[in-house]
Amino acid sequence: MSEAVSTDLDAVVVGAGFSGLYMLHRLRDTLGMSALVIETADDVGGTWYWNRYPGARCDSESYFYSFSDRLSEDLLEEWTWTERFAGQPEILRYLQTVAERFDLRRDIRFGTTVTAASWDEDAGRWQVDTDAGDRLTARFLITAVGCLSTTNLPEFPGRDSFRGPTFHTGLWPHEGVDFTGQRVAVIGTGATGVQLIPEVAEQAAHVTVFQRTPNYDIAGGNHPVTPEFDRRIKDEYRAIWARTRDTAFGFPYDVAERTALSVPEDERREIFEEAWAQGGFRLGTTFNDLLLDADANETAAEFLRSKIRERVDDPEVAEMLAPKDHPFFTKRPPLENGYYETYNRENVTLVDARRTPIEEITPTGVRTADGEYEVDAIVYATGFDAMTGTLFRLNITGRDGLGLADKWAGGPRTYLGIASRGFPNLFMLTGPQSPSVLSNMVVSIEQHVDWVADCLRHLREQGVEQIEPVAEAEDGWVAHHDEVTDATLLPRANSWWVGANIPGKHRSLYPYVGGVGVYRGICDDVAAKGYEGFALSGAGATAAV
Ligand code: FAD
Ligand code: NAP
Repeated sequence: MSEAVSTDLDAVVVGAGFSGLYMLHRLRDTLGMSALVIETADDVGGTWYWNRYPGARCDSESYFYSFSDRLSEDLLEEWTWTERFAGQPEILRYLQTVAERFDLRRDIRFGTTVTAASWDEDAGRWQVDTDAGDRLTARFLITAVGCLSTTNLPEFPGRDSFRGPTFHTGLWPHEGVDFTGQRVAVIGTGATGVQLIPEVAEQAAHVTVFQRTPNYDIAGGNHPVTPEFDRRIKDEYRAIWARTRDTAFGFPYDVAERTALSVPEDERREIFEEAWAQGGFRLGTTFNDLLLDADANETAAEFLRSKIRERVDDPEVAEMLAPKDHPFFTKRPPLENGYYETYNRENVTLVDARRTPIEEITPTGVRTADGEYEVDAIVYATGFDAMTGTLFRLNITGRDGLGLADKWAGGPRTYLGIASRGFPNLFMLTGPQSPSVLSNMVVSIEQHVDWVADCLRHLREQGVEQIEPVAEAEDGWVAHHDEVTDATLLPRANSWWVGANIPGKHRSLYPYVGGVGVYRGICDDVAAKGYEGFALSGAGATAAV
């Protein structure tokens, strides 16, 4: 450890992406607390530090996939995005700018991984161990570890026997990869594969894509940002943020107040076409029952299938690409820019890895029931052990030796998706059972960070030492989460949202689908009632609710 860093802190924060950076700023600069961020990477950025694969960009429009006036009005005015959906290098530059502007790096320990965190009952502190051999102690432990930060590398037989280079998109080499003249296998066609495949196809001699489940990919509609658009957005920022905070998914789009089957078919098609032309997630806002009613959903699903059939020349390939086994938006729909046309290229082959599953990786390629596909390189675009994967790797142990992974063996149990009984003074930013990945995440990150900062201020003002959910509040939140989930079509897809991508993982919807605005209201109400549902204890505690 460097001499300057105290080992007894007010707070340890794990992770230096959007969440950790904003949390550090609030703790240190707003509350005047001592805080240290621990980060595995050697710089800030989180998702945007690790995911450097060709084509990586956001699917939330740049102007609202950035910090709001809560962080800095000046930065909002000064920063100008160049593209409607910014690419990875630009988002990383943005986060580096935030770190510089608020002088955050001096309280971030880079190149260091938290290996364990245990609650010390006698001291009333968290003990946080790192792979550098440090033991830090802190009153509060705040996880900012991200929902998509532990890669999923499937255990294909023979995986390590492959003689060529292999890459996971979530751990992409910083120096880039040159596929010129190579035969490349890409496994996975989620949002990542959909961004990467057209780029690799431009370069490689041949690309073989292994698709297990086709997705409803939506036209991305990316384009440069004009100075006029930039000015208009800056002039309207206050209204835009107000809207993002109040909508269901944290996007400043209004959902039309009509059901899909209430309008005639030709009119419905026109509505879909108009939303399609706008690009991005607008299609999801065309009717208010797409996530609730299977027949309504099918109208959007069929519209998207028809788009695939229009764009892919070979009808057999088009049918392989057309999803039929799950409703639209029950998996996060990838935004595509020329993805379907990629399958009209001579140098791209699509393999149906559902009909003929991958049986093994050989020293020279990928073998399915149909035979071996010889390749020079393999790209795993196989996603993440989302939401809980990274949290469990922190080896968090709470009161009486209770492990977080053990407590959640039957699925997450949280209060508001931010705290869990048995783990005093632990806050999980964008934790399971909060809106997190079912939203524009920056809006949810800001909401969580602000809520935690306000809570810590309250505890300090009241002289409270410890905060922890009470059993009834946690049970109530889990029941509410399940009830809201069951009213939607989301459990019907085998998505990472329900943990279905990881063999043996508990199946339940991990993010909260009750809506960003509704959720914010609930959290604000809890705070206004003196942190209702939490037991507050210690020197000056006034309430155990
Ligand atoms: P992260 O950015 O994941 O940062 C977490 C950090 O914690 C990482 O740097 C990691 O190294 C560190 N960490 C984890 N464990 C440890 C440990 N034990 N010790 C030390 N450090 C640790 N969301 C959207 O809303 N819109 C989008 O357009 C969008 N696009 C995305 C595109 C891609 C390719 C991916 C993968 C995700 C995307 N997301 C998007 C989700 C994205 O993860 C969030 O928007 C956001 O970047 C998360 O920020 P975070 O700080 O919470 O977590
Ligand atoms: P993903 O959505 O989980 O997709 C992983 C892909 O790998 C799927 O096609 C999956 O098939 C396949 N796969 C996994 N294991 C496999 C196996 N054993 N055999 C064959 N195929 C296998 O992961 P992702 O594409 O990295 O995206 C994750 C999330 O990150 C997105 O949903 C999104 O939230 C975010 N993201 C956003 C953007 C953006 O546009 N801004 C870009 C990238 C990522 P199945 O579907 O059958 O499981």
